[in-house]
Amino acid sequence: MKIGLFGGTFNPIHRCHLTIARQVRDRLALDSILFIPTGTPPHKQLKSLAPAHHRLAMVREAIAEEPTFSATDLEVHRASPSYSIDTVRALQQKYGQGVELFFLIGLDAFLDIPTWKQAPDLLRTCHFVVIGRPGSQFIRLATLTLLPHISDESLRALDAGTVDRVDVPIEATAHLILLALAPCPVSASDVRSRLRRGLNLGDVLPVQVESYIMRFGLYKEAADLA
Ligand code: ATP
Repeated sequence: MKIGLFGGTFNPIHRCHLTIARQVRDRLALDSILFIPTGTPPHKQLKSLAPAHHRLAMVREAIAEEPTFSATDLEVHRASPSYSIDTVRALQQKYGQGVELFFLIGLDAFLDIPTWKQAPDLLRTCHFVVIGRPGSQFIRLATLTLLPHISDESLRALDAGTVDRVDVPIEATAHLILLALAPCPVSASDVRSRLRRGLNLGDVLPVQVESYIMRFGLYKEAADLA
């Protein structure tokens, strides 16, 4: 069994989250993807963060018709801030030996990994799948000293789109997989800003998520939910 773990604030979940999850599932032949909305995230400012139960409910609405996707409240119900190392270890315990875990993360978020709790251990604990994101360059990974050497040539090739995947072994049981998918330009901050200003959202949100936001009056003003 191969399971993808997709953590995030999902504030709110948007079209690109779903596109990424589907593409990674198909490219890496994963059996399923588990969405893990954060409770109190250590790396994000709390301003304009919708309550965790709403973010989890929106994820559930968005994935309701995808049989290979599910969501967990593992981090939502923790009283203290959640760290990825603790979440991954808890899931490894739960699933046992027969399951390989793949941690999905956008390149922008992965560039912060040196600040994460026990980052070197985390990188050895499961596979990491780093997905390119508009505005972030793979070549910046060359500055991360906690990674094994990755040639500038292969990082530049990912940025140029001349290769779409680079595999970097960390340990026998843990690989770093760099994936350049078709760029998907949506960000949750942009979605929130559009909602606050009452601008047209186009198709950036799954319809169920847009109606959930309207139903509960979320993201009207940053100050409402701070
Ligand atoms: P915000 O704009 O509030 O920072 P976000 O759009 O980055 O939010 P998160 O919930 O923080 O959404 O993202 C969860 C994960 O998905 C992160 O690893 C992030 O890098 C990745 N991700 C989100 N949007 C994209 C995108 N358009 N392309 C690639 N990765 C993305």
